[in-house]
Parts: sequence; C-alpha cells; structure tokens
Amino acid sequence: MTAPAHTDTVVKSTTCYECDANCLFDVTIDASGRAIKVEGLPNCPRGQLQLERQYHPDRLLYPLKRVGVKGSGEFERISWEEALDTITAALQKTKAQYGAPTVGFFAGYTKEARPQLQRLAHAFGSPNYLTESGCCFSATMVAEKLTYGYKLKTTSTVESPKTQCVLVWSTNATGSIPPFENHHLASRKKGRKMIVVDPRRTETAELADIHLQIRPGTDGALALGFHHLIFANGWQDQAFLDEWANGLDAFRDYIQEFPPARVAAICGISEADLRAAVEMFATTSPAQIAMSPTSTVQHSNGFQNHRAMILLSAVTGNIDREGGNRFFNDKVLPKPIELFDVCKNELPPRIGDEVFPIWTKYWPAAQSMLMPDCILEGKPQPLKALLAMGINTAMWANSKRMERALGELEFFAVSDFFHNPATLQADIVLPAATSLERTALIAYPGCAYQGEVKYRHQALPPRGEAKPDGQIFLELGVKLGMAEQFWHGNLAASWEEMGEGLPPDIRKEAWENPAGVTVYSPVIEELVEMGFLDADRQWRINGFRTATGKIEFDSVELKAHGYDGLPTYREPAESPLSTPELLADYPLVLTSGGRQKFFTHSQQHNIPAMLAHDPYPRVQIHPDDAAARGIAEGDAVEIRSRRGAVTFRAAVTDMMKPGVVHCFHGWNEANINELTDDTQLDPISGFPPFKSLLCQVTRIQENV
Ligand code: SF4
Repeated sequence: MTAPAHTDTVVKSTTCYECDANCLFDVTIDASGRAIKVEGLPNCPRGQLQLERQYHPDRLLYPLKRVGVKGSGEFERISWEEALDTITAALQKTKAQYGAPTVGFFAGYTKEARPQLQRLAHAFGSPNYLTESGCCFSATMVAEKLTYGYKLKTTSTVESPKTQCVLVWSTNATGSIPPFENHHLASRKKGRKMIVVDPRRTETAELADIHLQIRPGTDGALALGFHHLIFANGWQDQAFLDEWANGLDAFRDYIQEFPPARVAAICGISEADLRAAVEMFATTSPAQIAMSPTSTVQHSNGFQNHRAMILLSAVTGNIDREGGNRFFNDKVLPKPIELFDVCKNELPPRIGDEVFPIWTKYWPAAQSMLMPDCILEGKPQPLKALLAMGINTAMWANSKRMERALGELEFFAVSDFFHNPATLQADIVLPAATSLERTALIAYPGCAYQGEVKYRHQALPPRGEAKPDGQIFLELGVKLGMAEQFWHGNLAASWEEMGEGLPPDIRKEAWENPAGVTVYSPVIEELVEMGFLDADRQWRINGFRTATGKIEFDSVELKAHGYDGLPTYREPAESPLSTPELLADYPLVLTSGGRQKFFTHSQQHNIPAMLAHDPYPRVQIHPDDAAARGIAEGDAVEIRSRRGAVTFRAAVTDMMKPGVVHCFHGWNEANINELTDDTQLDPISGFPPFKSLLCQVTRIQENV
C-alpha cells in the first residue's frame, strides 16, 4: 500500500523483520529511492533504528570469494554468475564424491526463506536441512506435543482477561516480548496474582507477589515440588486426571521424592515462599503459566524439566482453558513447498535421527547442534559442504570449535548482511537483501485459536547487488537443473504457490493489506456446534493426540526409546551438586542469554545508536560476589569456564542471585558461548546447556 507524502516522497506500509514479530509500520522514501523515516512501530529501538542497519557502511553489497586463508577476511568481489556457478559446481562435486547427505543446508536468521532452502536441500537429495531451532524453541514444542499432543501457547501478546493468577516461568516481558513495556506481563493487573520464577530479579519479577529466585537449571525440581504440594493438599483436579492422565500412579509415587524442604534446598529458595507460591497457583482459578521458548530447555536436563513444568497445567485443570494454558492448533496454513515428505519417505536419515530420535520425529529438520561433530569427526554422519543463510558460530556451545569446524569444510557458502566469525570461514559470501528489500509470505500460529497471515511487498530496491535469500535458493535450484521445481527462479511465484493453501479471500486480503489477516481455527466452529460457547478445551472433540490418547505423565514413547517416561529431575551436568570437585576453580553458577530489546541475538551490535544504550558486553554479578573478588561496576573481568576465558565488563547488581552470574549473549568480541559446553547436550532434544554451568570471574587490571 503506497500513499503520497510530500511531492518528492512516498510512504509505504510494510512490516519489520529486525525480529520475527513482523510489526506493521510506515517507511518514507525520498525521490532518490532512499528510506528516510520509519513511523508507527512499537517502542522498540531495533525497529526504530533499522535504517541504521539498512544503510550501514559495512553491509555486504556484492558477492565475494575468499582469496586469503580462511579466517583472514580477505575476499574479492565477483559477479553473481561466478558465485552461483562456483556454488553449483561445489555442491555437485561433493554429491558425486561423498553423496548428497554430506551437503548441509543451514537456515539461521532471517527465517523467511526457510521453505525455499529446505526445498533446495531435499530436491538436491540431502535430508540435512538444519536450522537454529537445534537450540531454540523446538524442544519446548516437542516436549509439549509428546506430553499433550499439542503445542502450548507460550508467552504471547494476547492476554486473557479471565486469568486470575499468572505463573511467569523465566521470561521478562520488558526485555524479550514486544511490545515490551506495553506487554500485559509488564505491569500489575488488578485482581491478577503473579508468581515469577527467575534466577534474576527482573523488571517482571519486581511486579510479582512471590518471586522464586531459583538456581539456574533446577526448574524441574521446582515443578516437581509444586506437584508434591498440590497432591499432598488435594488441590489437583482429580476428576479430570482420572479420565485423561496416563501414568498418574507412577508420577504420584515419584513426586514423593520432592518434599518442600528438599526442593527449597535444591533450588536455593525459602520453603515458605515455595509453599505460598504453590497454594497461590493451585487455588486461584484459572491460572496460567507464561513461559519462555528457551529458558527451561537450554539445560542438560531441559526437556524433562519443561515437561514437569507444563504438567502443572494439567493437574490444576488449567489445560486448554480460557484464562489457563491454551493449545495452538491447526489454522489455515500455506501450502507446504518444503518437500519434507520427500525427505521423510525417500531420503536417508537426518543428522540427529541416530541420537535424538524423539526430537527428529517431531521436528522437521536435522539437529544442527551436531554439526561440529559431523564436520570434525564424521559422526553421526559426515558433513563436507555447507550452504547457509544467516549463520553465526556464536549460537553453538563451545563456539570456537564450531568456528574450527566451518574452517574444515571442503566447501562453504553463506549469505548474510554483514561479516561475522562464520562468514570469515566461507569460500563464497553472498549479500542478502533486508526485509525492506524483499517480499515474503509470513504465517504465524499466533495464539491458540487465531493466527495471522501477512504478505510483505518489497518496499525498496536492494542496495548494491544484494538479493533476497529465497531468490538465491531458487536460482541455485535452476542452476542445479531443477528449473521447473524452482519456479524458473521466480521468487514471487514461490510465495504464490504457498498462498494456494489459503482460502482465496484470505489470500487476497493478505496480499493487499500490509496489516495482514487474522485467521481462526475451524475448531471454534466445531465447539460452538457442540454447544460449547467458550471455544476452548478442544480435547472434548479430539482427545489428546499422544501415543495413548491421554496426557503423558509417564510417556510410553519416551520409554520405548530408552528414556525415563516420567519427567525425572537430574541435576545440570555441571553444577555445585553434580560436580562439587569443580567448585574450587569454578565456584559460580553461569547462566546466559537473557533477552534485551536492543538486540536480536547477535544482530544490531554494530549500530552506534544502539550501543549508546548498551555499549559493551556485560556480566551481571551480585554485589557480594563482586566484593569478594575486588570487582567494581564497569571493571573488565575475565570469565573462565572449563572451555576457555572471555573478557566482559562487570555490571554489579543485586538483581542477581548470590552465587550466580549472568552474561548477555550475541557479542562477537565477547562471545559467552566460547565458555559453554557442547559435550553435555540434553539427551532427548540435543539442546546445549547455555543456562546452567560453572565459572569463575576475576578482575582484570588493564582496560579492554
Ligand atoms: S518487535 Fe521491534 S524488531 Fe521486532 S518486528 Fe517489531 S519493531 Fe521490529
């Protein structure tokens, strides 16, 4: 949609993709075609400063080939023709020499061109399409589908006025959930009780009636302690459980091991607070758990911890209930173009099928956290070549090993906006178009029974010779001899084909209205026809879509694969209790990755205006821990783990739990994941323990 502004400018409505919230806004474009203003965004510096990234002097604008040694940063400009021919020849050579599965296709950020990349991978014959979901979000979804047969709604912008109590489990609205300060969890709501579980006293925790400041990675013990008290006091919804729980007797036996005194000691909280929080949650109805896509699962024990937590909704009768925890469910979806059926039915196993079969069963990709093993050690499968968009080694635990692995590939091509440690290892670097410069069909599951579909039109011509990632993948498909399958290189045609899955009226409106269309699940009509006007509890129609048709307290599927069926609690692989022998050298618990509204992971750290808000990599440390080490606010400090050492700046704050330090992530010059552990992945999901390790912090004398 275009509107005239002044005589020499135009205003276009479009959507932001500095993160994947896709907020609607207006961009003003001058007569030379340059965007000069953005308006209408939420209070979000990333969106408001996106033109700083758009016109950043360091942006990659032309295809490059490496001319120096790997990591040297020596590249020279080449034509698109040469770049695509080089990639095509290298992929074909690798396929002929080692087989198609040894070519990996990785999608990091941005995410919009994933369908085209996955199609390219599988049409080429490789099952190994990998994404950042190997360490983000997917484990929660798999745990929820395995337990309930549905994905639960995580923290969203949609607020239920019926919620009487919200149990916020390690998420901080003002840092991570747009529209930030206006999010419903960012303020007290009249009549709504609030419990916050978080190792940090965040802005959200400050609002809570009760803050349970747990030791990182003990979420499972805490959840099992909740269950113990709920059953001990008879606060469970027994009639519901009698009908819908599988394995409840074994579960009830198991939670006897988690009396409040033991749980309080494990988690490092007061028993009185624990008892008060459980009573508040279990006796206030309806109650909702507001959870993060990552906080509970980025631990060596994360998958089962998450299961223990989400089962609290079932035992209290709050599952799939207005005001409680609702399910996502099928809404009107675009036509799939990813060829995942081809992958499942015709291609060899994906990376991860061998070691994380539950995760790969539920998640349509290979497990990217295994890439360093594949490249460096050839296990569980060899990887020889890689085509990637938006890859950064900073998202792998023990990042330097991943950096080394990329350098060992026989061929590596990557698209991105800027150089980063990964692109410096590449043979070919391709300039990616920004969201202002590219079209995309975006379909979000949204909240429970409603989602949204948007179609973003290109607002600006690409700078230099940048191209949309999706366009690049289609052109490679054509060069690889699959023109017909890749729409002869026409990106718009690929979005059109995806749009064929939508009802015509929705498709038309999505293409014409930049604000997009809200789509409702058909299950609402079914419920209404059955006489349920509240449009929730779809299990009344479909039951629970699990292996037993019931809620899996003691999962038969997990047991069949040799795992514990119950959501058992195990200490983090590295912790004061599990590895006390390390405490002499590494006495502090290290957690990382708390979100900030200034940065989307490693992005925006090169924007000067953003650095004015947050100029350097910070480690948050309690005043007592800082004083014991002679550390003052702003001091340069070395953080050391068993994997290495990195320099941060101290942020001394009593929001931290004593004995725990927290590092912000995404800084290439101080990458916390150089210290995290890639050997203790969660045994079910393969997620790394970004959020529960051990470290030491030491003051550095000289400035950094
Ligand atoms: S939340 Fe901010 S960065 Fe994300 S899409 Fe909206 S404006 Fe852009």
